Amino acid sequence: APPTIQQRLAGLNPRQREAVAHIDGPCLVLAGAGSGKTSVITTKIAYLVQVCGMSARRIAAVTFTNKAAREMKERVGSMLKGREGHGLTVSTFHTLGLNIIRRELKALGYRPGFSLFDPEDAKALLRDLMHKDAQVDADQINAVQHRISDWKNDLVLPGQALSHAADEDELFAARVYEAYNRHLKAYNAVDFDDLILLPVVLLRDDPEALARWRKRIHYMLVDEYQDTNVSQYQLVKLLMGERKTFTVVGDDDQSIYAWRGARPENLVTLGEDFPRLNVIKLEQNYRSTGTILRAANTLIGHNPHVYEKTLWSEMGEGAPIRVVVNRHEEAEAERVASEILTRRIKERAEWRDFAVLYRGNFQARLLELKLQHYQIPYKLSGGTSFFSRNEIKDAMAYLRLLINPADDNAFLRIVNVPRREVGPGTLEKLANYATERGIALFAACHELGLAEQLPTRAVERLGRFTHFIDGVRRRMDGGDAIAAIRDMLREMDYEAWLYQNASAPTIAERRMANVWTLIDQLERSMQADPEESSVTEETETDDVESAISRLVLRDILEQQAEEDDSDRVQLLTMHASKGLEFPHVYLMGLEEELLPHRNAIEAGTVEEERRLAYVGITRARRTLTLTLARQRKAYGELMDCAPSRFLDELPEADLEWEGRTDREDPEKKQARGQDAIAGLRSLLG
Ligand code: ATP
Ligand code: MG
Repeated sequence: APPTIQQRLAGLNPRQREAVAHIDGPCLVLAGAGSGKTSVITTKIAYLVQVCGMSARRIAAVTFTNKAAREMKERVGSMLKGREGHGLTVSTFHTLGLNIIRRELKALGYRPGFSLFDPEDAKALLRDLMHKDAQVDADQINAVQHRISDWKNDLVLPGQALSHAADEDELFAARVYEAYNRHLKAYNAVDFDDLILLPVVLLRDDPEALARWRKRIHYMLVDEYQDTNVSQYQLVKLLMGERKTFTVVGDDDQSIYAWRGARPENLVTLGEDFPRLNVIKLEQNYRSTGTILRAANTLIGHNPHVYEKTLWSEMGEGAPIRVVVNRHEEAEAERVASEILTRRIKERAEWRDFAVLYRGNFQARLLELKLQHYQIPYKLSGGTSFFSRNEIKDAMAYLRLLINPADDNAFLRIVNVPRREVGPGTLEKLANYATERGIALFAACHELGLAEQLPTRAVERLGRFTHFIDGVRRRMDGGDAIAAIRDMLREMDYEAWLYQNASAPTIAERRMANVWTLIDQLERSMQADPEESSVTEETETDDVESAISRLVLRDILEQQAEEDDSDRVQLLTMHASKGLEFPHVYLMGLEEELLPHRNAIEAGTVEEERRLAYVGITRARRTLTLTLARQRKAYGELMDCAPSRFLDELPEADLEWEGRTDREDPEKKQARGQDAIAGLRSLLG
């Protein structure tokens, strides 16, 4: 039988137990990696339900990534029995925000069936808006998009941005921000940052809405608190209000999202905002060997600290940390792949026990080739995602248009997919017509006035398309929405279109299978699903609209295929590895300009890079291998790389170097460079 809550409590250390049992006021657990912070959260949820008798639907636990939320759900699920967990919210901040928006559409001034713009959609809208005023390039659009995102994360609304603009550039960005928000509203759409911003503004300004949500959520738990931004913190603060019943856990040394608005100072602010805050520190690490832990502590010791922490472990010294120097990046990838192949047998490990972490996704490409060469199964997180496949984007655009005909980006993506002979000239005139009248493209197709501006044939083609979509929408409203969607795909013969456009029939086949997988997923997420349970489900069964918005949200959040638990080597960025642990970890590319990243060196933000390295190192339970290359192709050229400064900051005695040559014969070095170039050339074909 699974352990009872009493047994689970007995398995915790006294400080962890204190954190679990402290329920009368705000509680902060501040502790280093692997000290059991997430374990405190999961046990505490079970404690609240099974010991305090709190209804699970009154509890909301939030974390940072979908992967982490899924893991937490699993851990809690194994502790709660039967219906005990019913209505429990375990989600990311963004999913919580989405649920609030869905329930508060009216108060927010949105209509049902709103769209969620992913960053690409948002960029397309910004491009349109910015082109109106001037010729702008992609960098300018990116800069404005970034600026707007920062404003939203800091709770700055367009009016404030306009009045506080410091210079011409800011003023320009603020004007675009204002227009951008106005257009989003007209499209009945929200963007990613709105998922937090809108709920915060609503709860701040609407006492009735605030009362509704405070009645709903009585206890909140937040994991990875160091990475919350201003608006996320406000959301917690507003929801918990007078009740002040929350537990947040975090580690300032693992704050790695400053570039996305995270404010590690939120840890300090918390103490100021809640003077009765009970701060609990955990010092025992249950994850890593003494050697790995010492390396992590020594490295992070080079950063200034808000809170001093010392971590110790009873896991034994373990193996030394290996540092493997390779001639070039291809040799590095080759080395990692071939080692995993042999070590799996030597260590009697499984594929999934190995994780390879790197700074940027591009580093995975060579490694993938090598793993494929050795036929090693692997799973790449955050690389080319399921949702970034063209066929999935098409299908998603159909779904989005079905729930929100005002979604112009979706309209434009699929009006000619499959081919309907709607030419660019027609679309341009249609767009002008719609813009002049301030209506959506789809709506404009229905207008009689359009016939005066377009040839009859063009109007007919558009009409056939909108008629088709309207028909599907009617069938969806009338009953089985999923069946209507499946029929739609068959009727328009999307499959034939895929066959026309694929270089091989097997490719088309796989693409069509992907589309059906998507629809299956949609169907599954609509069926009352206790796993996806959320505070909103107590009065509402799920409809196709919210199921579709959740799909769009998942698409944005995780950018990856359905999780599969099969036995594979894990490849992921250090950012994505937060909160996870693996027996054997490889950290690749420990070179200056890569880790720490060149941009960080230039911007003077090496401390954040050091925290990133700390996160990477502390994922390892038993062995840690650091790899680097002497030469690497960067910006189209083969460059010499220097070992990362972080290597010098690790305890020398714990490192076992391999392939380091302190002073090299210059001639040999050159020959080696030539080799590397030849090797890379042959690799790149
Ligand atoms: P991170 O900062 O990386 O997110 P964390 O502080 O959240 O780490 P956990 O993931 O909760 O740490 O725990 C690390 C490991 O230690 C897990 O494998 C967990 O099961 C184990 N663990 C936690 N507490 C205890 C304990 N009291 N006794 C034994 N093992 C424990
Ligand atoms: Mg954790």
